[in-house]
Amino acid sequence: MSAEVLDGRAVAAGVRERVAREVRELRSAGADPGLATVLVGDDPPSHVYVRMKREACDEVGINPIHHELDAATPAHELRDLLTALNEDPAVSAILLQLPLPAHLDGDEMTGLIAPEKDVDGLTPLSAGLLAQGRPGLVPCTPAGVMELLAHARVELEGARAVVIGRSQLVGKPVAQLLLGADATVTQCHSRTRDLAGVCREADVLVAAVGRPGTVTGEMVAEGAVVIDVGTNHTDRGLVGDVDFESVAARARAVTPVPGGVGPMTIAMLLSNTARAARMQLRMTGSAATAPG
Ligand code: NAP
Repeated sequence: MSAEVLDGRAVAAGVRERVAREVRELRSAGADPGLATVLVGDDPPSHVYVRMKREACDEVGINPIHHELDAATPAHELRDLLTALNEDPAVSAILLQLPLPAHLDGDEMTGLIAPEKDVDGLTPLSAGLLAQGRPGLVPCTPAGVMELLAHARVELEGARAVVIGRSQLVGKPVAQLLLGADATVTQCHSRTRDLAGVCREADVLVAAVGRPGTVTGEMVAEGAVVIDVGTNHTDRGLVGDVDFESVAARARAVTPVPGGVGPMTIAMLLSNTARAARMQLRMTGSAATAPG
């Protein structure tokens, strides 16, 4: 079998077009979607990521609102800024770029973001809503994985899905989204016994590990769909967790790295921002019409 290569760039372009339309509709309904990015310190990759996110906002008509803080910013200043952004009606969504400098607690600071503005879906409340299968904002990369699977018309109901990785950012939310789509989900991690045997059971295999070559062809069932979330910078350039050649020889479909899941992450950030703006418009609307 020679696998279909799932083109994340093309799917992401479609999502961006959809978001641009949604933003125009939101504007005509009286909302003005804005994404606040908060960047603390000098981490060079973080500066690049935030710049890309702000440019993507411009492209679809979302207002980029940027706050850049010194690496030595005390915790109370960051808390005050996040509280002010929570209360600012011009801000539909808040992205606190991680990692933070060592003296700041990323979990504590992320937890301060109001759930209706939690564009990365990383607060305990957003994670709880997802675990309970209730509506809320879902982390961008896992949402992108689901969008790619939907675009490839992968039947998830009753399918056996295996997720390698159990981080808060990727592995856990991906597994919960697959469960919510009625797949039968197994979650693997660094202590899993016979990883290859478990993976061979999968109709859908998602690798989110951060280790090149974690998934090879002999670990994949004929006809499986393989999603590679890994991004690993190596001497060979950017590679995923999946050995593309050997897996493509057996799988029905596989995502490349680069050009697979990566482009979906920013597209879903824009989509989440539009969703947050819509949620807030409804909240304002219902407050205005609420009795008393
Ligand atoms: P992480 O927090 O480091 O989690 C890695 C997970 O992999 C952990 O659950 C770990 O298990 C598991 N693991 C490590 N070695 C393993 C092994 N030999 N066998 C099975 N499982 C193993 O990483 P993350 O934030 O989830 O990110 C995972 C990868 O996705 C990274 O390469 C990251 O750069 C990439 N990523 C890409 C995007 C994108 O937009 N494309 C976005 C986010 C992340 P334990 O829990 O037991 O330690």
